[in-house]
Parts: sequence; C-alpha cells; structure tokens
Amino acid sequence: MAHTNNVQPTLNDIVALCKRRGFIFPSSEIYGGFAASWDYGPLGVELKNNVKQLWWRDVVTNSDNVVGMDGAITTHPRVWEASGHVEGFHDPMVDCKTCGHRFRADKLDEETCPNKPSKKVSECGGELTDVRNFNLMFKLHWGPVEDSANITYLRPETCQTIFPNFKNILTVSRMRVPFGIAQVGKSFRNEITTKSFIFRQREFEQMELEFFSHPDEAKKWFEYWLERRKKWYIGIGVREENLRMRQHDADELAHYADDCYDVEYKFPMGWSELEGIANRTNYDLTRHMEFSKKDLSYRDDITGEKYIPYVIESSAGVDRTILVLLSDAYDIDQAPNDKGEMEERLVLRFSPQVAPVSVAVFPLFKKPNLVEIARKIESDLRGPYRTMYDETGNIGKRYRRQDEIGTPLCITVDYDSLDDHAVTIRNRDSMEQVRVGIDQIHQAVADQMKSMCSSI
Ligand code: ATP
Repeated sequence: MAHTNNVQPTLNDIVALCKRRGFIFPSSEIYGGFAASWDYGPLGVELKNNVKQLWWRDVVTNSDNVVGMDGAITTHPRVWEASGHVEGFHDPMVDCKTCGHRFRADKLDEETCPNKPSKKVSECGGELTDVRNFNLMFKLHWGPVEDSANITYLRPETCQTIFPNFKNILTVSRMRVPFGIAQVGKSFRNEITTKSFIFRQREFEQMELEFFSHPDEAKKWFEYWLERRKKWYIGIGVREENLRMRQHDADELAHYADDCYDVEYKFPMGWSELEGIANRTNYDLTRHMEFSKKDLSYRDDITGEKYIPYVIESSAGVDRTILVLLSDAYDIDQAPNDKGEMEERLVLRFSPQVAPVSVAVFPLFKKPNLVEIARKIESDLRGPYRTMYDETGNIGKRYRRQDEIGTPLCITVDYDSLDDHAVTIRNRDSMEQVRVGIDQIHQAVADQMKSMCSSI
C-alpha cells in the first residue's frame, strides 16, 4: 500500500535540507552565489544519477525499439534556424525603467516588484517599456574570433541534435519505423524568471525521447507513451495523487503539434509542468529537410511506402524530477530517541531505487572488534548496494542522519554480534528492527528493499 505523508514541505524546507545534507548547494556560494545556478553535492549527484539510470533503463534498455545517443551541446547554427528557435524562441518581456528589472509581459500580475515587495509589478507604478521579444538562447562565438560569421548557440533542448541524426541512426542501428531515439543531457535557456530553486534554471538537464512512427499510427504511440511515462513516475515512488496529466488547450498548443499533454506535479509552489509529451507531427524532420536539403524521409522496405515519419516526443526535466522526489519523499513523524522519548523526526521516504544511500552500517560503539565486523559487512554490501559507514555520535543520532537522507536500511553491529554472529537491521519507514545472521544479510537486505519498493 502507498505510504501517506504527514506534511507537505515548503520550498524553503527542501532548500534548507538540501544544503544541510549535501544534496544541492547554491553555485559559487563563496562568491555570493550565482543567479539561478545550483551545484549538486555528494548525495545530490547520486540521486541524479539514479534518476537518469532509471529513465535510461526503462526507455532504452527495456525497450526493443529505442536506441540512445549523446549529441554535442553546440551545433551548426542552421540547426536552430531549422528548429525555429532563432526566429521564434521568444518570451515577450518588458523592462521597468524605475527598478531596472526585466519581467515577462504575461506574468506582470504574478511577479513581485523588487522595490515594493508588497506589490505586484502590474500595480507598483513603475514605468514599463513596450513589450519586446527576448530570445532565450545563449549566443556564443564558435572559435577564437568574435565574428558575426561564427555565432552559434548553446542548445535550449536536447532533441534538436536527434533529428539531424535520424538517417545516421536509422542506417547503423538497423531499426525500422516505429522506433525511438533517446538522449539525456544539458540544455541552456536564458530564462528571465529563475525562482523556485531547481525548478527553473538557466542550465538544466533533460531526458528526451523522440519516437518516430507512421503518421497513421502516431495517435496510438502518443497514447502509449502518455501511459508509460506516467507509470514510470509511479514506479520510482512518486505518489499518484500528486501527479496529473493536463492536455493543452488549442490556443496553448504549438502550431506544429497535433496534441500535447503536460505531466504535472503538485510542487510546493502548486501544480506545474514536470514533463511535456507531444505529437510533433512531421514538423521537425520536414524543417531539417528544407534547411539541409537532405532527404530525411523513410522508405518502408516491406510495403515500399515512402513518408516523413511523425514524432512523439517525451521531454522530462532531470532537475524537476529531483525536486519532485525530494518533495514527495519529505515527511515528519515521531521516533524514539536514545532515552526512549518520542521526538519529531524528519525522514525522506525515497524508494530504495532512487535513495542515494541504500544501506548504512554502524558499529554500536567505536570498539575495534565491532568496527572490524561492521567494516567487513559494509565492504561486502558495497557494489550491489550504495553503502555508508558511520561510527560517530550516539546510535539515535546516526539513525536520524540516515532518515534525513532517505536511507532505507541501517545495520548495527553490537556486542551480542560477537557471540550470535547476527546484526540488527532497522527499517526507515516502520522503524522495526530485526535480528539477522551475518551470513543471511544479503538475502534480508534484498527482501526488505523489495518490499519497500512495492509498498510505494
Ligand atoms: P515551462 O513552461 O515550465 O517553461 P517548457 O514548456 O518551456 O516549461 P519544455 O520546453 O517542454 O518546457 O521542456 C521540457 C522539460 O524540460 C520541462 O517539462 C522541464 O521539466 C524541463 N525544463 C524546461 N525548462 C527548464 C528550466 N529552465 N529549468 C529546469 N528544467 C526545465
């Protein structure tokens, strides 16, 4: 049965925990920070790697019709002309001549005035410029000379390195349509508003799938991927009641898209997009054919039919998934301290699949004979599991530390272990402790992990 959490954290709760426990730090903090830029620390990078690996395993490894690629972040500038980003990747903006800040023209009722924080920009009385379009791509010079002839852009999405490689991959992978190409990588957008922690950054990571199909089958594959992507989030432990699929209204739909859903999550700031799933028709391949003058159509070798495939895109944010996992796992309950008194405890109820540490091992006291056994157990579990060894502080504090980083299981070696060759395994969620023979640890850990995955 799915767990129910007692609290819904605020964004500040999450930011504070991330800093305190080493998930995510403000970038360049010793220089006063760098706007909208965050660095993942030791636990954050484990969490991030787990998310990317779980996505890859599901979308690529476990699919017989999807292959992967890893494209360059900087590409030929024509790619961005063909994609429409040079001409169209704009947010309408206004500048305030009074405070000197820039705001999205469509969000003036939502943005707080930096000079008068009790007022929104629409009501603060600042003198605003006319609406201007602001291109979200980062421009750079490719090569040592700053010349207009060598301007290109950092990619604002990963998928535009997939489309130009469609023919290359089709040829080498021996795939036939329907098939998909997947990619995980960094993207860059010169976002104007970058609040909400890692939700909206200028540098972020995406997990994207472009799935090519016959135009007549595009609807079917669109529905297939909608279903499958939702299942993936639930499978990695996200509570279903915090997820919803929202179909785009006709006026919201990109001009080339036939249909689009946002996978939305109930973030601490409210319901917002976590992933976009769209039927992009044959727009991208057609545009790249026009701009490159290369034939990117597909010939079905069985039917002989030649066509430009439709594309179903699933585009998910790695960082937003991390924020979802942190927010969904965050809970506060009561736990006994060393004296048996009940105290408030902060616990991250991560699924064992995503938890940065799977098993922590402690000697009850820092005595050589206990340390030796604990070290040996930890090194035996290392590899199949992500482990941590800790011998500092009282045992209650050590449990609390592991609860706060979401470690599913803690193993404690005590004086009885010297005689009965057994240890105590403590479960993060139930806080139950069971005695298990040292030679049975692998099986016991595997069983508990499995039951914790399926209880999510
Ligand atoms: P939004 O409407 O929130 O700006 P979008 O519709 O522009 O998002 P897409 O272009 O569909 O986003 O990008 C796909 C996914 O990439 C998003 O669902 C999100 O998870 C992630 N993403 C997009 N922009 C950012 C950003 N600035 N910071 C972090 N993640 C982002």
